Amino acid sequence: MARAKEAFPAWRAVAPADRAQQLRRLATLVEEHHEELARIESRNVGKPIGGARGEVAMVAQVLHFYAGAVDKFHGETIPVVGGVDMTFREPLGVVGLITPWNFPLNIASWKIGPALACGNTVVIKPAELTPLSTMRLGELALEAGIPEGVLNVVVGKGSVVGQRLIEHPDVAKIGFTGSTEVGRLVMQGAASTIKRVTLELGGKSANIVFEDADLERAAAAAPYAVFDNAGQDCCARSRILVQEAVYDRFLDLLVEATGKLRVGDPEDDATEMGPLISAAHRETVDSFVQGTTPAFRGDVPEGRGFWYPATLVEAGPDDRIAREEVFGPVAALVPFADEAEAVRIANSSSYGLSGSIWTRDGGRALRVARAVESGVLSINSNSSVRPSTPFGGVKQSGFGRELGMHALEGYSEVKNVFYATEA
Ligand code: NDP
Repeated sequence: MARAKEAFPAWRAVAPADRAQQLRRLATLVEEHHEELARIESRNVGKPIGGARGEVAMVAQVLHFYAGAVDKFHGETIPVVGGVDMTFREPLGVVGLITPWNFPLNIASWKIGPALACGNTVVIKPAELTPLSTMRLGELALEAGIPEGVLNVVVGKGSVVGQRLIEHPDVAKIGFTGSTEVGRLVMQGAASTIKRVTLELGGKSANIVFEDADLERAAAAAPYAVFDNAGQDCCARSRILVQEAVYDRFLDLLVEATGKLRVGDPEDDATEMGPLISAAHRETVDSFVQGTTPAFRGDVPEGRGFWYPATLVEAGPDDRIAREEVFGPVAALVPFADEAEAVRIANSSSYGLSGSIWTRDGGRALRVARAVESGVLSINSNSSVRPSTPFGGVKQSGFGRELGMHALEGYSEVKNVFYATEA
């Protein structure tokens, strides 16, 4: 933190074009080390290599985006009497970043990109289980010419290193992604020094399928929206709400599609789902399924790995499995009667991160999109995370936005200056 503080004055003074060039170089180095970084991520997290390659490609896109954003995020002039009023976007100083184990490098880039673009220096603490890719990114940053002290990677336990970041008087902001439980601790800890915080927390997102939807498309896409990354995804559409009139038909199609999921060795190019992160996490996931009679349970390989089968459970909206975040390959199917009930069930969660709406009725699609309490939604698609568009939650899924130009607001402060011009 002392190094980050020392490096701050010089980094904020770097000419915008030069800062952009250094970020651009880092993005290019990530592209050049694409396969190496994907292998590190796949081995460390146990995620399929195909998914890891896609994630590393996104890391480069995110860094390119923020390289391009350095000189496009600026102040304004405001009409006032007696002079000129202008605003500046000032960096915050040293920012502390705390990231989880499910998408380690990806989520790191969502925070590092805008933080460095705005002229802040960074101390990042990756999750203890998955520090390797972030450490490698730190080395690449030096190779890219980003000065020593600007991007610091500190490994260690959340309760020790993370806690210190949160309490440290020289840290101006905490950008956190993780569980809602730890998010609460971040807010509490940040209060003592009035730190800014951005919180990207848990989710229990609804995938709402209306009777007039393209059922084949919705069912074929649904497994990837919840079993991708073995369900260890804050955006997992793990509550599948289906209109009663098409429920049985949709369930048949979903079971068929889920059965095709290729579960196996993460290093195999064809694998779509790997094991879970740890034995302890597998126990937590299983605790949600205990006592239910799943409508479907997939196969898993034998041997090493914390395997858990893709599982579909029919549930009522108030069942634990339909309310709490499982963070594993388990989806709850819940029937609904009409549009009003779909919205009521979707909003009956304390979370509000992501979700999907499947219908051919354009008016309904927009009505429901406006009514569902969620930070990110997709219509006739399950894809809503892109480098250029804002991402983040409402309710207990957190606040603040990552990605796109919106993320820059979380890593800068508006300064207002009035300049008198009267003679
Ligand atoms: P945790 O909240 O347990 O951990 C997240 C990070 O916080 C880790 O680096 C961890 O360190 C650190 N941490 C833990 N305790 C403290 C503490 N007392 N003070 C400071 N830092 C601490 O979450 P998981 O790693 O288990 O990730 C899964 C959770 O993250 C899920 O609930 C998921 O929904 C959420 N998530 C949300 C996303 C979003 O964008 N909204 C994206 C991805 C995940 P360490 O583990 O090293 O001890």
